[in-house]
Amino acid sequence: MTSRTGPAPRIDLHTHSTASDGTMSPAELVRAAADARLDVVAITDHDTTAGWASALRALPPRLRLVRGAELSCRWTGAHREVSLHLLAYLFDPDHPELVAELTRLRAAREERGERIVTLLRADGVDVSWTEILSGAGGGTVGRPHIAQALIRAGLVGSTREAFGPDWLGERYRLPKEDIDIFRAIRLVRAAGGVPVFAHPRASRRGPIVPDELIAELATAGLAGLEADHEDHSPAERSHVRALAGELGLLVTGSSDFHGTHKTVGLGAFTTSVEAYERIVAEGVTDVASI
Ligand code: AMP
Ligand code: FE
Ligand code: FE
Ligand code: ZN
Repeated sequence: MTSRTGPAPRIDLHTHSTASDGTMSPAELVRAAADARLDVVAITDHDTTAGWASALRALPPRLRLVRGAELSCRWTGAHREVSLHLLAYLFDPDHPELVAELTRLRAAREERGERIVTLLRADGVDVSWTEILSGAGGGTVGRPHIAQALIRAGLVGSTREAFGPDWLGERYRLPKEDIDIFRAIRLVRAAGGVPVFAHPRASRRGPIVPDELIAELATAGLAGLEADHEDHSPAERSHVRALAGELGLLVTGSSDFHGTHKTVGLGAFTTSVEAYERIVAEGVTDVASI
């Protein structure tokens, strides 16, 4: 993709649909991406590739679709476990070991969601697990779906408030199953994919990992770091960019769009053509376009 003339291509490599905790169906998502004048969009639902086929069927002309996922991972540090997210692009969705891991993670998310609801109900909060499950519509279940039930019950006014310390951010937060980050990177590479560390400095979501770990991950096969993201301050974005430069990693920027579950819009942050082309060159699955 070259742009010697005209505006630079707009590339957003991190979005969610109803296949996980976004609010637009995969078809609505790709249409909205075209309406937002994106040239490339990646669909990266949590722990699933379930949205790929319908996003592909609905792909508007000229929009390129990067098929991906965002994997729930963990790093076991000296003093604590840190949960982190790994974006995986253009991998083989039928790779047996990866499929098995994603299936395990989704099943564990359902068990954990139900346990959170049990805790809430024990405190007299009237939310229903079956209603939350049906709200997720068969997609990967996450706390945003429980947040919706709290909003419907009139207990909080917004998703943001539902993620506060009195609710799903702390008091009713339970850990979720995940994949060891080194194993996840190996698995994504084994499946022909390209692993990029999502929002690595997003400290308001919880503890973050040290730069020394990121250096080890680069040696283990990590391809890139997401620098431009709404959960990073300008200083954190520059830090991630500099670290990527030192380690020879590519840098991405993305919206992490979740529909109305978050306020950020499609294309709010974007990725350079150079980084996009490196990802395309390393991935086993083609970028789709019609
Ligand atoms: P879970 O995957 O179930 O642990 O839930 C985490 C998801 O909740 C993330 O992927 C975001 O989509 C969403 N999330 C986390 N923090 C917030 C927040 N402060 N406001 C809105 N959504 C959030
Ligand atoms: Fe999410
Ligand atoms: Fe994430
Ligand atoms: Zn995300």
